[in-house]
Amino acid sequence: MEQADTTMPKSHAQHRDWLMCHDCGELQKIVAISPDNEMVCFNCNAVLHSGEARRLEWASALAVTALILFVLSNALPFITLEIGSQSQTATILDGFWALLDRNQWILAGMVITTIFLFPLIEILAFLYLLLPYSYNRHLRGQTAVLRWLVRAQTWSMLEIFMLSTVVASVKLADMTVLRLEAGAYAFFLLVGVLILAYVKLNRRLLWGWINTNNYFSTYENETVFDCKICQAMVGESVIEKTHECPRCRSELHKRIPHSLEKTTALVLASALLYIPANILPIMTYTSLGITETDTIFSGVVELLAEGLWGVALVVFVASILVPITKLVILTYLLWSVKVGMRRGAKHRAFLYRLMEVVGRWSMVDVFVVTLLVSLVQFGFIYTVEPESAIIAFGAVVILTMVAAETFDARLIWDVLDEKKPQ
Ligand SMILES: [Zn+2]
Ligand SMILES: [Zn+2]
Repeated sequence: MEQADTTMPKSHAQHRDWLMCHDCGELQKIVAISPDNEMVCFNCNAVLHSGEARRLEWASALAVTALILFVLSNALPFITLEIGSQSQTATILDGFWALLDRNQWILAGMVITTIFLFPLIEILAFLYLLLPYSYNRHLRGQTAVLRWLVRAQTWSMLEIFMLSTVVASVKLADMTVLRLEAGAYAFFLLVGVLILAYVKLNRRLLWGWINTNNYFSTYENETVFDCKICQAMVGESVIEKTHECPRCRSELHKRIPHSLEKTTALVLASALLYIPANILPIMTYTSLGITETDTIFSGVVELLAEGLWGVALVVFVASILVPITKLVILTYLLWSVKVGMRRGAKHRAFLYRLMEVVGRWSMVDVFVVTLLVSLVQFGFIYTVEPESAIIAFGAVVILTMVAAETFDARLIWDVLDEKKPQ
């Protein structure tokens, strides 16, 4: 619907072969690249878009495969454990039910969202976009679905859950005989297929199919800003009027509002929660009447003592090194923007991207605990229970991920640019 406005000329939409880097705000012309290559920002080295051929056909085939594998991996048994004469088989969702039985609502919610609801909605979203695309049929709500899919990518954690099953298996290996079942193999395949589907999903092509116009302005040569979701370039007059991207309808601002304040608050909250996450116990094992409690750190030490160097390293990096590094980098970025640091902007842009990529892997320990709790219930012989640190730790991971999203990386460059907004 058009809004009548007599005070300002109407904005117009057009197509331009340009892209604006979301990390630094530089406008650049799209160049032809081979299918296996990536176009990077000339200023800050961020990946702007990757080479593309008939990629969407592949993505739709992969999405159909993913749906079949999703059903199989949830319907079939996942893992079997044997201790002495007792054996126990569990599916992926058994973990969720086991947590509900213990009234671990937050943990159960986190698990069901990340390993069940998210991937399912993702697969359905892929299908809703890609199958009609093959027949060039436009359906209602595809704009909203693609908008959601782009945002959801960071929060889908199947590959991290997969790493957790490996860590949990190694931890259990000395106590029990452990056998992966058909559901586990279907699940591992599903993870691979979904990752490939994202690689093959050409966002630029799909947005272009939904709406070829990607440049919206009222005046000739006015300053434009990019939309993170659909990569459209939107003139500041349009943003000031609607605060919305005309192409994908997502909220749009010249800079994330109150970026520094929001990020600072989130960093402080995660730093505070990081203390109980490390001091309090994360889980309890009870074997033949003897109870043992683990914190994150003692878990790593134990793995080292058993000579399991590889897994000890994975847990140490994911649960101790990554969260603390993330907090340090975020604090450094916030401080550098506050004092208006001009040197090393490229270096800081790299740190920001690194933190965005590795942050989610800290969820490993959360999934390890839920896997152990759901699988290891052998009564008197061997049981595992979750403890309070796991919730504090999960909150640290999620809060730092949100903090990375609220930090506007373009602030790093604004000090170098006289054209910056306001
Ligand atoms: Zn850039
Ligand atoms: Zn947009």
